[in-house]
Amino acid sequence: MIDRETFERYCHQLLLVDSISDYCPNGLQVEGREQIEKLLVGVTASEALLEEAEAWGACAVLVHHGYFWKGEPSPLVGMKGRRVRRLMKNDINLFAYHLPLDVHVELGNNACLARDFGLQNLRQVKAGGTEGLLWVGDLPLRQSASQFAAAVGIILQREPLLLGDAERTVRTVALCSGGAQDFIDQARELGADVFISGEVSERTTHTAIETGITYLAAGHHATERGGVQALAKHLAHRFSLSYRFIDIFNPV
Ligand SMILES: [Zn+2]
Repeated sequence: MIDRETFERYCHQLLLVDSISDYCPNGLQVEGREQIEKLLVGVTASEALLEEAEAWGACAVLVHHGYFWKGEPSPLVGMKGRRVRRLMKNDINLFAYHLPLDVHVELGNNACLARDFGLQNLRQVKAGGTEGLLWVGDLPLRQSASQFAAAVGIILQREPLLLGDAERTVRTVALCSGGAQDFIDQARELGADVFISGEVSERTTHTAIETGITYLAAGHHATERGGVQALAKHLAHRFSLSYRFIDIFNPV
């Protein structure tokens, strides 16, 4: 059990929140009860996740995608109103960590992917204005892009979409979880044979074919399941909390 303020202060320091400029608030987004014992964890604070939190009697919900994104309408009405009302009615805290949980060297989404794919000689590069957001590393063995794509599909339990040359030999991998498809040019300039992100745009196909880098759209949701789980595991151990990760299906 831990009090809410200590919990937030610890996460804030651990994830170096002050050093990252983001387009949503990172940390406590909706305030609930003072003591935290049961932590429900998910990728996105959707209504379905909150229903699980309510049913389990969670004290706090911890997610990668919270609320209050820059540019979205402020009023707490409709879908957004229902979500916040459910949290407040049940006295559940909502903690969200976005970019800090992408870039973190150990607990971040990209760190988890790099570990899962067995990448070596890792380096983190500044991308989109954020230090360390793009990761580059080498596979232990040269393989064809299609072989690597198959391995990624098994690891993430979701078949990726492969764009570009499937038969080329790949060794150097760049990756950035989520909707980072437009870092594809930077990935190629960094010497990557293959670039992995979650989402894909129409233009990504042409870039992959015409510039000769292979692209894997491995799923926004699928590539961002690791960070919150790694963070929750760390926090549960540190503060003797119980936690549950709920994987709400999202094919995107
Ligand atoms: Zn995301």
